[in-house]
Amino acid sequence: MVGEGILKGLVETARNFFGSYVGKDRLTTVQYPEERLPQIEAARSFPFLVYDGPDWDKGMRCVACQICEKECPPKCILIKKSADKKPDAVGKPQFYPAVFNIDISVCMSCQICVEVCPFDAIKMDVDYDLSTDDRFGDLLLDKERLAKSNEYYNAIHPTEAAAVDAHFAEERAKAEAKAKAATEAKAAAEAKVAPAAQEQPVGGETQ
Ligand code: SF4
Ligand code: SF4
Repeated sequence: MVGEGILKGLVETARNFFGSYVGKDRLTTVQYPEERLPQIEAARSFPFLVYDGPDWDKGMRCVACQICEKECPPKCILIKKSADKKPDAVGKPQFYPAVFNIDISVCMSCQICVEVCPFDAIKMDVDYDLSTDDRFGDLLLDKERLAKSNEYYNAIHPTEAAAVDAHFAEERAKAEAKAKAATEAKAAAEAKVAPAAQEQPVGGETQ
């Protein structure tokens, strides 16, 4: 029958409208901002930069590789690389962002920056209550305002953050094992050289 779908839709709307007066399950809206729906783990708003440890600047995971800046479709990320290096999340010396800005009034929350980051340094926030009339003061975020701790990341995306933490722990263990093996090999080489040097006659004569 022509229009059957429309009628079914209207019946469903009516059931929800009248049902919402008697049953909570039919009430799909809340009195925002006094009431808020619980957030699901996959929710996303705008990106933030993850840091490890107590110091947001020293602990920032970003190594200023600029991949996210290149891949961002509306080009709302601006990065300037540092001149010096600092240890990254697994202890390797890396560049860091001297400047890292995101204009969230342009950002379209596509998450591409997160997908392309090889260092798990940028993740999607869930904070959506950002309305303001100060376009540049409040919506052009610098690296200090973008920086959020790994504890915060774990709180908003626990499953994903736990997988990242496990990956970093594995990488740190591998780096420590490699450094230990290198130290042991060096010590063994030095131990071999020492007796050989002692066997050399005084003055270096070999008769
Ligand atoms: S979420 Fe998309 S639009 Fe926003 S900064 Fe990342 S890549 Fe750019
Ligand atoms: S956030 Fe990731 S992709 Fe972007 S510059 Fe930093 S390390 Fe590179």
